[in-house]
Amino acid sequence: MSEVRVRFAPSPTGPLHIGGVRTALYNYLFAKHHGGKFLLRIEDTDRNRYVDGAEDYIIESLKWLGLTPDEGVGFGGDLGPYRQSDRKEIYKQYVFQLVESGWAYYAFDTPEELEELRRISDQKGETFIYNPQSRMQLNNSLNLSEEEVKSKIDSGEHFVIRFKIPENETVHLNDLIRGEIEINTNTLDDKILFKSDGMPTYHLANIVDDHLMKISHVIRGEEWLPSMALHELLYRAFGWKAPRFAHLPLILKPEGKGKLSKRDGDKHGFPVFPIEWKKADESAMGYREEGYLPDALVNMLALLGWNPGTEQEIFTKKELIKLFSLEKVSKSGARFNPEKTIWFNHQYIQKMNDLDILTIYRKMLEERNIKSNDEFNLKVIELLKERANFISDIYTQGDFFYHAPENYDEKAVKKAWKEDTSILLSEFSNELIALPKFNQQQIHKLAEEFVEKKSIGFGRLMMPVRLALVGGLHGPDVPVIMELIGRDETHRRLSLICSKL
Ligand code: GLU
Repeated sequence: MSEVRVRFAPSPTGPLHIGGVRTALYNYLFAKHHGGKFLLRIEDTDRNRYVDGAEDYIIESLKWLGLTPDEGVGFGGDLGPYRQSDRKEIYKQYVFQLVESGWAYYAFDTPEELEELRRISDQKGETFIYNPQSRMQLNNSLNLSEEEVKSKIDSGEHFVIRFKIPENETVHLNDLIRGEIEINTNTLDDKILFKSDGMPTYHLANIVDDHLMKISHVIRGEEWLPSMALHELLYRAFGWKAPRFAHLPLILKPEGKGKLSKRDGDKHGFPVFPIEWKKADESAMGYREEGYLPDALVNMLALLGWNPGTEQEIFTKKELIKLFSLEKVSKSGARFNPEKTIWFNHQYIQKMNDLDILTIYRKMLEERNIKSNDEFNLKVIELLKERANFISDIYTQGDFFYHAPENYDEKAVKKAWKEDTSILLSEFSNELIALPKFNQQQIHKLAEEFVEKKSIGFGRLMMPVRLALVGGLHGPDVPVIMELIGRDETHRRLSLICSKL
């Protein structure tokens, strides 16, 4: 295979949907697998849909996920500029080349005229399309003399340039995921390539850029499959070798039917965007801000439409690069599973080094104005990470390590607090004070001797003690908590509950 060069070519029309992130990921993995290049091209020719801030958002998202382009907007490269609005002059030159060679023509029909034609067709229950059958009755350079065309253009009349679709021809396509596809050109229309505002449309710019940027494989969403025949024809018209195409399956709603949308995320409370998106009048949550680890998200997305054919689910990026192939991408849509995404995050937290967790965890504590030391925090992390889906869970499940409970869970009180509990606790507390060494082994031994002496069950003592320390009946082993918070704090909490209940 000659040099592999692929591109991610988003349009900056808003935050990048998770489906777009997966497209970027598959491009990235494919490029790295083949020792090739991964490009970022910003396709911003449609100025009506342009959204300020979206380009920066895309770049930041890719960086956060570690899918760093080798070339592209914000990343340099020799075949730029990589932003289409900076390439306007290039497209002009190429579209005129197609007009010269007879593959494209000027069309002067106004939007109103076309609207009227559509209305008339609708009335007859037909659909109007600008194609080989209709174009000879319409207002375009195919039906006008050279002088007429020139004078219209010179007088500043509104025009567009359309592609001249060949009539009744079967185009043979080959998609790396979907295989052979045949399309009859009579089902296609004479797409606009160039608009009156001097801007190319997506189709023209996309093909010109893929050619000039030496793209070898176009890997993109299924929604572009209907454009593939036109794109093949455009390559033919230019006399260029077309890249190979691969159209990725849709990402479906958790229920299984229909494309995953922001609304699904809002409904079920999960993000559909990699990072938070904030504009004056809209906002959307992001995986980063919700506490997901970038590698967990990458792993989850890699398996959303691809699998190497084994039971393995956890893959490092290196492994993904090694194993990825387009042949193993499925044709059918992949159902998004928010619970599974949480599961991946949990797995990645377990794999994470405690010191790395600490860096993130410490920040969370600082944000809450909680003073602590790292040695202490590391012990808390070690104790609680096993049950954490998010790093923030370590704090929510272990807040009692940092302050005494403000209130006690009612149900737990009912269960744990008896008439003589107060007396029991103060007695136990006194013995704790006298303990030569305040560590979990000693505390445990003392507790066992204490219940034995009192002829009571272990729970009679330990349940109210736990309640005093954590405010409920959850948390790790009581002696472990005691050792961590220390003798004075234990004593203080035991007194506190006796004064309160
Ligand atoms: N700009 C197109 C998009 O937003 C890119 C399609 C392609 O990759 O050809 O999806």
